[in-house]
Amino acid sequence: MKRRISVLTTNPSLGILTYSLPEAKAVAAGQLVSIPLGPRQILGMLWEEDVSNQIKIADNRLRPVSKIYDLPEASHCYRKFIQWVSSYYMAPLGAVLRMGIPFSPATIESREIKNYYVPKREWPKLTPLRQQALEKLSGEKGSVRELAEKAEISPAIIRALIKTGLITEQKTSLEIALSLPNPDFNAPILSETQSKAAEILKESIAKKSFETFLLDGVTGSGKTEVYFEAIAQTLRDGKQSLILLPEIALTEPFLKRFQARFGCEPVVWHSDLSQARRRKNWQAIVTGQAKVVIGARSALFLPFKAIGLIIVDEAHETSFKQEDGVCYQARDVAVMRAKFENIPVILATATPAIESVMQVRLGNYKEIRLAERHGSAGLPSIHVINMTEQALAKGRWLAPPLVKALTNAVERHEQGLLFLNRRGYAPLTLCRHCGHRIKCPHCTAWMVEHRQLGQMICHHCGFTMPVPDKCPECQTADSLVACGPGVERIAEEAAVLFPEARIETITSDTLATPKQAAEFVEKMDQGAIDIIIGTQLITKGYHFPRLTVVGVVDADIGLQGGDLRASEHSFQQIAQVAGRAGRSALDGHVFIQTYEPETPVISALASGDREAFYQTELEIREITEAPPFGRYVALIISSEKQEIAEAVGHQLGQRKPEGDGIEVFGPAPAPLLQLRGRYRYRFLIQAKRNIPIQRVIHQWLSKISIPSSVRITIDVDPYSFF
Ligand code: ADP
Ligand code: ZN
Repeated sequence: MKRRISVLTTNPSLGILTYSLPEAKAVAAGQLVSIPLGPRQILGMLWEEDVSNQIKIADNRLRPVSKIYDLPEASHCYRKFIQWVSSYYMAPLGAVLRMGIPFSPATIESREIKNYYVPKREWPKLTPLRQQALEKLSGEKGSVRELAEKAEISPAIIRALIKTGLITEQKTSLEIALSLPNPDFNAPILSETQSKAAEILKESIAKKSFETFLLDGVTGSGKTEVYFEAIAQTLRDGKQSLILLPEIALTEPFLKRFQARFGCEPVVWHSDLSQARRRKNWQAIVTGQAKVVIGARSALFLPFKAIGLIIVDEAHETSFKQEDGVCYQARDVAVMRAKFENIPVILATATPAIESVMQVRLGNYKEIRLAERHGSAGLPSIHVINMTEQALAKGRWLAPPLVKALTNAVERHEQGLLFLNRRGYAPLTLCRHCGHRIKCPHCTAWMVEHRQLGQMICHHCGFTMPVPDKCPECQTADSLVACGPGVERIAEEAAVLFPEARIETITSDTLATPKQAAEFVEKMDQGAIDIIIGTQLITKGYHFPRLTVVGVVDADIGLQGGDLRASEHSFQQIAQVAGRAGRSALDGHVFIQTYEPETPVISALASGDREAFYQTELEIREITEAPPFGRYVALIISSEKQEIAEAVGHQLGQRKPEGDGIEVFGPAPAPLLQLRGRYRYRFLIQAKRNIPIQRVIHQWLSKISIPSSVRITIDVDPYSFF
């Protein structure tokens, strides 16, 4: 009988398969292999070295492994970890592995990657399409696909241009000479509190065992400097560190800061990397050459050679929650990865998640506090503006005290920031004549006008249409009115109020790539911007020394909708944006515009009494048995046909699990009934923490057969409820 091994493929629908291997071949579980599947080759990880006794497939039906890659094998801990993620989040094993090995045999084997370069030069006479493409791409590098995407043309045109020699080939070797970060390159002199904090972390690293730290320090207290010391220690031990950032836009400024401290840039991992760069960085991570990696949440799944430390920066951020594909919370996954690897993990934040506060209280996490800002910077003064007392003219959103403070700041050559978490010009457009509201044809959502683009966009599915010049319902011309403000509308008002100021709007539309983020930071540093108007993108991590005035345009927005974490998020978001003000010797002032100054969120922000706020929130969660006391799982049933989704919901509803400590709500039409053309029905499962909820759900789902046109999304520990 042939020797059998099992292979976990990176294909979600295949999972673990059996292949044969020559008897004498020495292999290790965790090695990367390529296997035949029909006519194709696919990538996988050798999962078990010998399953000859378990698998009774006839020899002649077994195919041999095609190739074993000469790369270090992933550890036992890594495989355990992948398994845990798969079973906790109820996601296919292959889908989890794929996040760590996002390649095909072809992309992983190539020793070099073909890139193309578009030189900067004068072009001969060409068709307008080609001409435009070359102008757009001038000076750019990338694969055919990447260049085509950048120029928004078909790959065929790029290939044609390559043939004419106007775009030239460049082979990029995958070998990289990485410089090593130097732990002692430029270490700061830490304050007493900072060095105490750093000592605690360094001791933990020396112990080389699992421990979770909540590094809880006010904005600007030097959390980054403190965890840099932990990285320095890990570097001295020759181990790898991983830093997770909540937003890829933050990577560029972070790289600079890292370089100033350690003498060279770390290795980056996020979705915006070119294919060649991704492949190179991956290689450096699995071979252990990359000593420090900064990345988006997916970096957690990489098979590091020797990871010694994980840091989650801005750990309260909701962007660590992945909502599609494998639904997971990266902060929790980071803690679990550290647990499997038996290493320390640091959650750094100024506004911890309720879940983290609870873990500290339970004694599971160790808390390290930094209560003061570094150096001469004080915390900003908070001014609550009661909007019910402000008689603002129609179409005006900025109250006089805020306007005055901004005017003064601009005159003093300081900078201001207006925060409103709404992209576009207005969240709703309606017809003055018949009352019709413009809605997305694919979602239960309003179309949002983006005046600068002259388009209406659905923020849920991206559907775009030109702004109509008459009502689509009653055909009356010039009858459409914009209701409520978005950032573009605030920018319009600001342009009138501060005619001298240089104003810049920052949203995911204008700041989509690390490069754009770097340009923005550069402009801020040079003082080329006076007032920023931005969405939540601007609340995170930035350090602008001359920024002194922050205005929260509508502090009540976040409390609408009222989901589980609405108050918590609102508090975190406003506290974070407030934390952008007065980070140097200049005093900071924060103006919070609200119609409800008495709510716990606003009063906690005004008084600075964070503990009282957390206490009340925890009590509410405890009474309602909500997370972190109980556990939630959301089940979303969707189909392009409403009757089918509804029927499956109904069938599941009739068989819903019952018992002590478990309650199932639903099926209910989702608040966002239609999303991207699919109709959605929801269940919410609430369970005590000791219930093996995943098993219960598996059994429940196995009771009915689900038509292939229906998709069931399981979201364990959900953040969104729409
Ligand atoms: P946080 O991460 O808590 O918001 P940072 O680490 O970004 O705080 O620190 C805020 C600012 O203060 C940064 O510009 C940082 O370089 C500076 N800083 C903090 N601690 C020190 C120190 N010990 N020596 C010099 N500069 C420091
Ligand atoms: Zn839509």
